[in-house]
Amino acid sequence: MSEENKFTFENEEYRKTYWHTCSHVLAQAMKRLHPDVKLAIGPSIENGFYYDFDTPTPFSPEDLADLEAEMRKICKEKLKLERFELPRAEAIKFMEEKEEPYKVELINDLPEDAVISFYKQGDFTDLCAGPHLDSTGRIKGNAIKLTSATGAYWRGDSSRKMLQRIYGVAFPKKEELDAYLEQQAEALKRDHNKLGRELEFFTTVDYIGQGLPIMLPKGARVIQLLQRWIEDTEQKRGYMLTKTPLMAKRDLYRISGHWDHYLDGMFVLGDPHDETKECFALRPMTCPFQYQVFLNRQRSYRELPMRLGETSTLFRNEDSGEMHGLIRVRQFTISEGHLIIRPDQLEEEFRGCFELANYCMETLGLKEDCSFRFSQWDPNNTDKYEGTPEQWEHAQGVMKHILDDLGIDYKVGIDEAAFYGPKLDIQIKNVFGKEDTLITIQIDMLLAEKFGMYYVDENGQKQLPYIIHRTSMGCYERTLALLIEKYAGALPTWIAPEQVRFLPVTDRAADYCYDLMRKLECGGYRATVDARSEKIGKKIREAQMEKVPYMLVVGDRDMENGTVSPRHRAKGDLGAMTFEEFEALLKDVVDSKSKE
Ligand SMILES: [Zn+2]
Ligand SMILES: [Zn+2]
Repeated sequence: MSEENKFTFENEEYRKTYWHTCSHVLAQAMKRLHPDVKLAIGPSIENGFYYDFDTPTPFSPEDLADLEAEMRKICKEKLKLERFELPRAEAIKFMEEKEEPYKVELINDLPEDAVISFYKQGDFTDLCAGPHLDSTGRIKGNAIKLTSATGAYWRGDSSRKMLQRIYGVAFPKKEELDAYLEQQAEALKRDHNKLGRELEFFTTVDYIGQGLPIMLPKGARVIQLLQRWIEDTEQKRGYMLTKTPLMAKRDLYRISGHWDHYLDGMFVLGDPHDETKECFALRPMTCPFQYQVFLNRQRSYRELPMRLGETSTLFRNEDSGEMHGLIRVRQFTISEGHLIIRPDQLEEEFRGCFELANYCMETLGLKEDCSFRFSQWDPNNTDKYEGTPEQWEHAQGVMKHILDDLGIDYKVGIDEAAFYGPKLDIQIKNVFGKEDTLITIQIDMLLAEKFGMYYVDENGQKQLPYIIHRTSMGCYERTLALLIEKYAGALPTWIAPEQVRFLPVTDRAADYCYDLMRKLECGGYRATVDARSEKIGKKIREAQMEKVPYMLVVGDRDMENGTVSPRHRAKGDLGAMTFEEFEALLKDVVDSKSKE
């Protein structure tokens, strides 16, 4: 970071300091307008800041507007932020006198030798470690926005009191704030968790559970189409299909290491600690199951690489609070695969996996939102991992060489590896800018030995293979979510759940439409007829709202001439054409997997 960049928003540290100082200004405004409200904590976050307050009534939009106005005043007052320290007893007494019980609790929880610092700005003082801007005058008052208020448990603990959290964001310029708010509004319109429900791709049901989405017919159809495409693509690339159980006895997970390293992440059926009874667990990964395919008989070096693919449903026991639409779920289906290879095949096979992932991302139009992370182990946290430092050095060294060879521009993620090996994670940002892993390709030099997976080499000697764990597209649920957001619900025609909707103008035309619809269905296309006796304008509007790619308006004259008048959801009227011409047009768009 160059000197002149130090005090700009480009600099993350400055940005965080700016936002954190805003949270003090918010707390000060709160105390001026509502002296009885108790203060909890107020950090900066990835996009702005928040402050948690204890108050009996939730904040209304009017409250937020009043607080914003008060914050603007405080900025104009150009109050200096002055730091001072107090010994523990005095610090506690200070906050007790101010009747701030949460601050007292925070001080009590600080380690014995902690320096306890406060920041004072005008009539307001807060417990804080800093750092801050030196004056409230540094904050641009009219570029602050309090965006929302929600409930939040004190210290995130559901057995503690529910507080009221106010979120805000601020920028050095009003125009930057406006641009940000506009972008957020656009993102909100595309949010799959809202749009995907409105368009009836999926739903969730409280008494079924968080993170267990119900795929409605549209969502189920898209996932089926993606799955067929991936399975066919993998078959062309030499993958063999497997189908293995969704659960296994703990004995399997003991061998694989999941019992030692992943037990918290698994749904266990039975008491994991009662050794006198059988205990099962739903599978969090496919690996140990797919290895059994290799182990089914003795394998020769000639059979390698063995590329195994499976459309695999997996279960991961994550916190309810972590669940989000189709992005964070507890049960998901993924194109899992394991390549069992000779060590000399590693580079070529890794490249093949990378190319396959690239092809998938490119075809779906998601590639521009992807970045790469080389996920390594943490040498200071070795308990989480299998293997020795030497084995990790070696695997990571080989992987670095391959990634550099492929010219992949990656970030390094320490302590992000799988417990059995380093990985290349293809990360994707959603419309809100939040990053998640979509695809992963992992090198594993450890697990084959644990499972006794040997092949016989050209000299008749037993050898240990390497394993590549990989996905080609990421889980279907998450991919559907990203596609809904990327295309604002208007999925490319080749994966659109409904590709064509006939809109007959008269009853007579309706029968003709059904005939044409069946022709399209025989060609493998997905079409419907809207035969309701509604005005044609209304039918078009509804089809448009539902993002159907092609609407075919058919009147009596079309029937006589054998024509249709297609309307494209983005391009509008395409003009009258024969039905055969339309079929050819549709075939082109679908076969080319165009983004249209
Ligand atoms: Zn502070
Ligand atoms: Zn695996």
